[in-house]
Amino acid sequence: MVNQKSSAGVAGAMIALCTAVALLCNFGGSVSGQREAEEIAKDAALANAQPDQGMFQGYQQLSDPLLVLVNGEVPLPETWEFLPFLVDDQVVDRRMGEDLSRMLHDGEEEGVWLWVASGYRSRERQQALLDQAVRENREAGMGEEEALADALKTLAQPGHSEHETGLAVDFNDVSPGFADTKASRWLEANAWKYGFVQRYKGAKTKVTGVEEESWHYRYVGRDHAREMEEKDLCLEEYVLYRKALGDN
Ligand SMILES: [Zn+2]
Repeated sequence: MVNQKSSAGVAGAMIALCTAVALLCNFGGSVSGQREAEEIAKDAALANAQPDQGMFQGYQQLSDPLLVLVNGEVPLPETWEFLPFLVDDQVVDRRMGEDLSRMLHDGEEEGVWLWVASGYRSRERQQALLDQAVRENREAGMGEEEALADALKTLAQPGHSEHETGLAVDFNDVSPGFADTKASRWLEANAWKYGFVQRYKGAKTKVTGVEEESWHYRYVGRDHAREMEEKDLCLEEYVLYRKALGDN
């Protein structure tokens, strides 16, 4: 369904994208011009990365697999190829294997104890986790709808979990208390150097549609992670920003 709000959002995004592209072309090789165009692209991404405006309906993935977007609106692409890599006793995608191992090792050297509690999940596994959470809620006395709604606060619908890409990891005890630990603070300061970003920050809940998850990190590679950190962009904002800069 297309409502007026989403039409306006899409139209606004198109204008912003055209402006950004036109500016990029005009400024050509000029460094200050390029910086200005980047700022405009960033503003366009910030203004438009709102899933509730339907911005991500029919979203076309960027060709860089490290930037694959999976959220409430965008399912895991059917063509997604998962490349298994074993770390601790969890399986993650091979593309992050080396950086993840190095990050765990360097953390340990600095007295930080980090472990991978959850990496890759198949769609079936995601379904099983959701079913289990609903069952527990029902046993605690919730009605059917309430039990599902509550479970979906912390678990994505099967096909919509970033864990199905293999590029997401949950660290340590996977609980809100993790935010107050030394390990969490170390990750906040250092994860980007290894190509990881905290995927669901409290300040970006409106954009991601997910409440703060201090334990959930997403691998995007070192170059993207540095730029996302510098510009304070979450993945939804960053992919729109890359598109505004001409990536496809
Ligand atoms: Zn997670």
